[in-house]
Amino acid sequence: MKLFDLTGRVAIVTGGNGGIGLGMARGMADAGAIILVAGRDREKSAGAVREIEQAGGKAVAVEVDVLKPESCRAMIDAATERFGRLDILVNNAGTNIRKQPQEYSLEEWHTVLQTNLTSAFVCAQAAYPAMLAAGGGKIINIGSMMSIFGASFAAPYASSKGGIVQLTKALAAAWAKDNIQVNSVLPGWIDTALTRRAREDVDGLHQRVLDRTPAGRWGLPEDHAGIAVFLASPASDFVTGTAIPVDGGFSIQG
Ligand code: NDP
Repeated sequence: MKLFDLTGRVAIVTGGNGGIGLGMARGMADAGAIILVAGRDREKSAGAVREIEQAGGKAVAVEVDVLKPESCRAMIDAATERFGRLDILVNNAGTNIRKQPQEYSLEEWHTVLQTNLTSAFVCAQAAYPAMLAAGGGKIINIGSMMSIFGASFAAPYASSKGGIVQLTKALAAAWAKDNIQVNSVLPGWIDTALTRRAREDVDGLHQRVLDRTPAGRWGLPEDHAGIAVFLASPASDFVTGTAIPVDGGFSIQG
């Protein structure tokens, strides 16, 4: 058994068509996994599949709206129907609405919680039978620095990302006996579409991140390739329930 080999493994990455999800998808494809790139935007997904294939990997696009439980379940079925198995699920799709707490509508609150947290639960629940049938599996949930810290402009987002860490622990405790490892990754400030918008919304954010990050730079989607391969591969078979920062030291800066 090669520790970091994913040959023949089937992986779904929600939001795998851009940003951090694509960085993880590319890493796992390089290690041999077949990737289902799951997202709403068909053109973006087709572009991501092309990118993975051009780098020598295997990928297909699958349409999903994680706000809809039936769509999440259909996405899982697409993996088992097409490839006969599902080994790896990356719950990465996410969104944010930045406001002061008193300004959110309840609808906005639910949109963020459902996209970031409820969908991860629904997808994991739907993936469980397939992973059981495969003799085990790997679930990687994407948290955030907001899983640890608070911010005035992120009440629903921080709640959802805090919830991701606790959901991860609960699933890990329940499914360890089934050889399913469940871990979360907490990205620092990463240069993606999501944070490009944040930099427009939040004054001084760009420089504050540079000043506080010991590595002295914003992270990149490809910084997540290695952690994805580790958590998806036999190398992490005795690692479960953890929350691993990928943040250039942001969270340990005194
Ligand atoms: P992007 O905006 O690039 O990616 C977000 C992804 O989520 C898109 O691919 C999008 O796909 C998908 N998505 C959003 N809503 C839905 C939906 N309803 N159904 C299906 N897919 C959906 O941002 P990032 O790469 O930055 O974000 C990825 C994850 O990383 C998120 O969970 C985010 O919270 C987290 N994160 C990001 C950090 C950063 O600094 N960038 C820091 C910490 C955490 P589509 O376009 O097809 O809708």
